[in-house]
Amino acid sequence: MNFEFSEYQKDLFTRYAEIGQQAAANAQQHDADGSFDRATWDRMSREGLWRIPVPRALGGLGGSWTDCAAAMEGVASTAEDLGFLVTMLGHVGSLRIILEEGSPEQKARWLETIMQGHVGVTAMTEASGGSDLARMSVSALPTEDGLRLHGEKVHITNAPIASHGMIAGRIPSLGEKRDITLFFVDLDADGIRLGATEDNLGIRTSPTANIAFDGARIDPINIIGEPGDGLRILYRIISFERALYGIMASGLIENMLEKSMQRVESRQAFRRPLADYQYVQGRMSDMKIASVVCRLMTYAGLEKLAANTDDASIVCSVGKFLAGEKLLEAAEHLVQLHGHLGFMNNHLSRQLRDAVGMRIAGGTSDIQRINIFNQMRHQHHLNANAAPVHMAAAE
Ligand SMILES: Cc1cc2nc3c(=O)[nH]c(=O)nc-3n(C[C@H](O)[C@H](O)[C@H](O)COP(=O)(O)OP(=O)(O)OC[C@H]3O[C@@H](n4cnc5c(N)ncnc54)[C@H](O)[C@@H]3O)c2cc1C
Repeated sequence: MNFEFSEYQKDLFTRYAEIGQQAAANAQQHDADGSFDRATWDRMSREGLWRIPVPRALGGLGGSWTDCAAAMEGVASTAEDLGFLVTMLGHVGSLRIILEEGSPEQKARWLETIMQGHVGVTAMTEASGGSDLARMSVSALPTEDGLRLHGEKVHITNAPIASHGMIAGRIPSLGEKRDITLFFVDLDADGIRLGATEDNLGIRTSPTANIAFDGARIDPINIIGEPGDGLRILYRIISFERALYGIMASGLIENMLEKSMQRVESRQAFRRPLADYQYVQGRMSDMKIASVVCRLMTYAGLEKLAANTDDASIVCSVGKFLAGEKLLEAAEHLVQLHGHLGFMNNHLSRQLRDAVGMRIAGGTSDIQRINIFNQMRHQHHLNANAAPVHMAAAE
């Protein structure tokens, strides 16, 4: 594995880091208002971030998902705004679905809009529970006039600002065991209602809301892949988003480290800079360890997804778990190292509020643990079943 950036990726990182600075400058106000930084988003989209992984023949820049991640890491390294980054994650999920799983007709309809930066959603969670995805009940029901979608998704990132996106649901007429299906819809279609923007503790610059379906029309173009093939595709998309949490955490932590270093070098206690004290050094070393590990987990996850290896899902879950846990620890260190200055209602404490949400969004830390165990168990059973064959071959 080679996680060194190419010259092109270094350039992407630097270009988008500059745009991230604009997000940082606006973040405090957008957090207070609970609003989305549209100006920075549009600038970033115009710069072409969403075109990076798309083939040239489809209007993109012909790069890879790793190139796209390098640009996203650039934004994360300066943005100081997890909300802005979470909006990017919701959007890149919709890009990945259309690019990797979409039919030519679906690409023709949605790809250009996504690349232009019309925001997308990836909607799975329902009021009955976000962790237990198999319980989802949003359903496309048959009518004389074709399929109509009913039900409601909750807490969906970007819903108040999005124009389209992926909705995970069911087609019950396919039968209980194989009915989960992914739909891709325009959110201004008849039969789709958006709820009010939610008033969240953190990640407030990335608005969330419910999306209700009261008979929205589902045509063949609104179905991703084969009807009933949703779970398989969904886990690939979820894994991809999980992989990207690592660079979000790493970029934010690197920025926290810069701020913390300035603080501990300049602040004196007992006639010496804070930086001279081992407890202080330990906090910052732990932050650095977290940043390095989270970053590497993203690129390892992307590489494994690209190679479609058996352990791709585990690696992506490990990355998401570490990103959620380590970002929160780092944000606590950031606040602690700044003393009362970190405890005031400002850009430092905001990062702690934001980090709490990282452990929940994209599947909670507990769920990553469960996924890791289930994958290990699955692998164990595969190996156990395969063993007699190996033994027979050996004999
Ligand atoms: C900022 C933010 C953005 C979000 N954006 C989106 C989005 O764009 N799209 C989307 O679909 N969803 C989104 N969500 C919702 C998120 O995916 C869910 O909140 C999450 O999956 C948890 O689901 P839940 O809230 O229903 O909690 P529950 O599933 O009810 O879980 C509650 C608690 O119980 C724990 N738990 C549940 N089951 C187990 C178990 N078997 N063993 C141990 N512990 C368990 C969980 O870890 C959690 O701590 C977002 C959430 C946040 C915070």
